[in-house]
This record gives sequence, C-alpha cells and structure tokens, in this order.
Amino acid sequence: MLEDFPFLERKIHYLDNAATTQRPNRVIEAIANFYRSHNANIHRGIHTLSMEATEMYEKARERVAEFIGAKPKELVFTYGTTSSINFISRSLIESGVLREGDVILLTTLEHHSNLLPWQRLKKYGISLKFVDVDDRGVLSEDDVISAMDGVKLLSITGLSNVTGQRVNIEKVVDAAKKKGVLVHVDGAQLVPHVKVDVSKLELDFLSFSAHKMLGPTGMGALYVNEKYLENLEPFLVGGGMIGRVTLESSTFADPPEKFEAGTPNIAGAVGFAAAVDYLFDFGMENVERIDRELTSYALERLRELDFVTLYGPTDERQTSIVSFNVEGIHPHDVATVLDEEFRVAIRTGHHCAQPLMRRLGVAGTCRASFYLYNTKEDVDKLVEGLKRVREWIG
Ligand code: PMP
Repeated sequence: MLEDFPFLERKIHYLDNAATTQRPNRVIEAIANFYRSHNANIHRGIHTLSMEATEMYEKARERVAEFIGAKPKELVFTYGTTSSINFISRSLIESGVLREGDVILLTTLEHHSNLLPWQRLKKYGISLKFVDVDDRGVLSEDDVISAMDGVKLLSITGLSNVTGQRVNIEKVVDAAKKKGVLVHVDGAQLVPHVKVDVSKLELDFLSFSAHKMLGPTGMGALYVNEKYLENLEPFLVGGGMIGRVTLESSTFADPPEKFEAGTPNIAGAVGFAAAVDYLFDFGMENVERIDRELTSYALERLRELDFVTLYGPTDERQTSIVSFNVEGIHPHDVATVLDEEFRVAIRTGHHCAQPLMRRLGVAGTCRASFYLYNTKEDVDKLVEGLKRVREWIG
C-alpha cells in the first residue's frame, strides 16, 4: 500500500492529516486522465466529450453517495465542508425551515466552519446555544442530549479536529429524533476516519471534504436527507440548475442539480470518486484500526514525557488525532524544530477552534494527526523530536 503514495518518497513524517491528507497515485491519475482525455463541461453538451464528462461526474456522485450509504440524489457536490455548512445554513433560512425565534445548538468543540455560518443567522432572529466541554476539552453526549429541549437544530462535529474525540453521533441522533430536533453533522474528520452509514443513522444533513480523505482540494459534499430535497431552496442560483427561465422568474431543475449552480469542479468529483474507490478497496475497517492503533500508541508514548500536556479524552473515544503542549515552549517553536531537524510535520496553532483554545486556557496546541499510510515509526520520530526540543529549548 505504501507504494501507492508518491509523497512518501519525500521521506517526511507527515502528521498533518487533519489539515489535509496526501493523495494516492490512483487519485492523481484519475484527475490527470480526466483533463487529458475527457475534459468538457457537463450537462449542457450533446457532443461526445461532454457526454463522457457528464457520465463521469454522475458516476462520481453515485460512488461518493454509496460511500456514506446515501442515494445519489441526496449527495450534493460542494467545494468542501465550509461550503457545505454555508450552503445548508443559508438554505434552511431561505426555505423557512429555520425561522425567527428558533434556537440552534452547537458545542465548544466546533471548528470555525461549523460556527460562523450559524452566527450569521442571528440577524434573522435565530439564537445560538452552546454545550460546553470539560477542562480537558472533552464533550459529554449526555450534556448535548440534556441541552436539546426547545432546540430546532443541532449542528455538531462527529470527530473533533483538535482533540480527536469521536462523538457518539448514534446516541445523539437517536435522542434528537425523539425530541424532534434536526441534526447536521460536521463530518470533515468523521467521514474520512470512521465508517458512516446515513441510511442507518437517520441524519438530516452531513458535510464533508474530499481532501481529508485522499481526494482533491476544493471538493466536498453535503448529504441532504431526501425528505428535504423538494422544498429546500438552493444556496447558489444561476446557470446549470434551471428548469425554465424568463426575465422575471425561473423554475429550477430537479435535485441534486438544482443545488449545483455554475460549472462544478468536475475533475474534483472524478478525483473524489477515485479516493472513495481507494478507501473501499482498502476497507474502512482497516482505516479505523490503523487510526486507533496509532492514536493509542502515540498517547502511550506521549504519556512517558512528563513535560507534555495532553488534551481530549486520551482513551478509546479518541482517534486519528493527538493534541498536546510542551511545557514552557511555544507550539510554533516545537513544530519548527520537528520540521527542520526531524522531518516531522505537525500542525500548531488554534486549529480554527479559538473558543475551544480559550476554554482550554491556551493560545494554541501542537497536533499530530494520522492516516492509513502512517506507521509507528512516525510516532517514534515525533517522540524523539519532542525529547530533543525539550533539551534544546526547554
Ligand atoms: N470542520 C472540521 C471539523 C474540520 O476539521 C475542517 C477542516 N480543518 C473543516 C470543518 C473545514 O473543512 P474545509 O476546510 O475542507 O472546508
């Protein structure tokens, strides 16, 4: 499998997968092949190339939908999780599903992309309510469930990009259904690392990004439960999503086309499908196993270092991500030494989660995040590097 990933030739211990993953040859080739031999705009053309491009785009939709257990028409292609959440928040307001006086429930764990789009709805008389985490940044599902009364919609991360906590979405969705609360899951980290099946979960909306699961950047998806497809207003309007247009008014195409105005990222969709093919073949159960093994190994090794503070659950609820700080040393300095001296790539800073940083009482953390091509050797190199950082700067 390692030979599938050309980036490994760089001999970098890449532990920044929560920011973006690397691509296997299969994805790179699928995108190159599209541009090389099939490039044309979709839907409107009746020439061979356009029909090929359309077929590839729609096949990609089928494949990505299958990956999460959705029907193709429930899978809207977007530019990524941020664009999916902007889409769904605006569409819910435009469609009147969310109305003045409604309450949206969020948590302190959320990425800015699952916060700002909802903050924007305040001007429509929507209010936000938050479930807090504990001092280590751990979210309790019971707290989320208790806070649901009187709430219209819960928008929650499935897996924290800071602490790696895998939220028990099944439990939360189950309670939400009983209380009549709509649920949107920010799946940016969840979908790449854990098998998600919306046909069993009964979610309303799910957002995710291709680039965090071996696919291209600028590509993502929004799952919309089919019961909303007819009545949901599109976020973007314009070319490619119309039925009949007059100077005064227009009708829209059927979903999901009605949600995809403009020329989409066609090659991105093809690359997304190739990434999903790769994950299907590799097996999500293997992805889950590798992520968990590396996470527990990293936690075990980092616990040996008495100058390291760990955040998050630090138990089996945590997967693919470890977040920590080195006593007395700024995270950026830690990352610089790891990069320059050990070729270990980690991410430092607030990880687009400033409210969580404030809650933890830190300006930022160091974050190592894993994916299927990582090995224990990468973790060992990280630990060796941290010991040196401490000797040199501490
Ligand atoms: N939510 C979470 C939990 C994330 O980790 C990220 C990416 N760091 C996003 C949302 C935003 O994803 P994108 O940048 O692909 O839109």
